[in-house]
Amino acid sequence: MKTELVKPGAYAYERAGKILREGGLVAFPTETVYGLGGNALDPQAARKIYAAKGRPGDNPLIVHIADPSEAEAIAYTNDTYYKLAKAFMPGPLTVVLPKKDIVPDSVTGGIKTVAVRCPGHPVALELIRAAGVPIAAPSANLSGSPSPTTAEHVMSDLEGRIDMIIDGGQSEIGVESTVISLTGDVCTVLRPGEIIPRELYSIVGDVVVAQAVKVPSAAGDKPESPGMKYKHYAPSKPLVLLSGSREEAVAYVNNETKKTAVLAYSEDADKFENAYVIDIGAADDAHSQMHNLFKALRDVEAADAEIIYANLPPETDDFLAVYNRMIRACGGIVVRLGT
Ligand code: AMP
Ligand code: MG
Repeated sequence: MKTELVKPGAYAYERAGKILREGGLVAFPTETVYGLGGNALDPQAARKIYAAKGRPGDNPLIVHIADPSEAEAIAYTNDTYYKLAKAFMPGPLTVVLPKKDIVPDSVTGGIKTVAVRCPGHPVALELIRAAGVPIAAPSANLSGSPSPTTAEHVMSDLEGRIDMIIDGGQSEIGVESTVISLTGDVCTVLRPGEIIPRELYSIVGDVVVAQAVKVPSAAGDKPESPGMKYKHYAPSKPLVLLSGSREEAVAYVNNETKKTAVLAYSEDADKFENAYVIDIGAADDAHSQMHNLFKALRDVEAADAEIIYANLPPETDDFLAVYNRMIRACGGIVVRLGT
């Protein structure tokens, strides 16, 4: 199949809307990362999404809508949902709710809940309106790769496997949406993102963070968010996280005899003697690190390196999204430095 690459505009929306209604696949920009969209009410379209990505069939898709009230058609909502919608939608928040029967089981990996998101990107909203149906969309990468933050990333993973890509430039936030579940007694963070637990707490009062967010799940575990059990984002060379002071990390990397790449804080970028350095942002700037992380994990593949190092991010609210992605990308390999 030929993959059409287009810029946003009247042609793109009309053509993409038609492709989606006819069961095809369109990748599109959102404020978090690029999504791979298909008609969320069409089981065949969902199957095509899983096939194009090579995604395991039990990892559910997020359903995108153009207005928070459109959740009524696909899910059983509640007051908390609307409080959160008022505060954060359109925006980078995904809410898991009990699903209505109209949503095919193939969209939700066979589970009886559905993840709902109203994205805060004009191109995504216009596309959903043009399609006239809710859009099921996981990140538009091959399963296991870093999520795409540019149309070029989508092309390199999915060219020839999908009908169209709308190129809306670089995604601003850079990591996927915060996923929360409202299906239990307490609002539970299943995947951290730009919207942090403290902000959710200010709206709903009680918030817990699922264990799988901080600890990569082991084989056989059943995390509340099925996606958390899969290895993700890992570069082709081992990524090792360094826990300790920044000075200790620089000294440790400078002692490495293997060919080395490093995902470095801006302040340290010129302190590495032999490593291939990719700057991921200032040490205290969680937003820059979110924005740069997935691009860095792709760019590091160009380095002639046998091993890749990065600092272990802090486990604070603000850095939770970066921490979660780094821990999953390194497969749990952390070296503790100092005493
Ligand atoms: P992606 O679309 O690649 O950003 O991945 C979607 C994420 O949302 C995965 O981690 C899924 O496990 C999670 N997710 C989607 N639907 C549900 C659901 N119904 N319950 C729990 N987690 C979900
Ligand atoms: Mg993904």
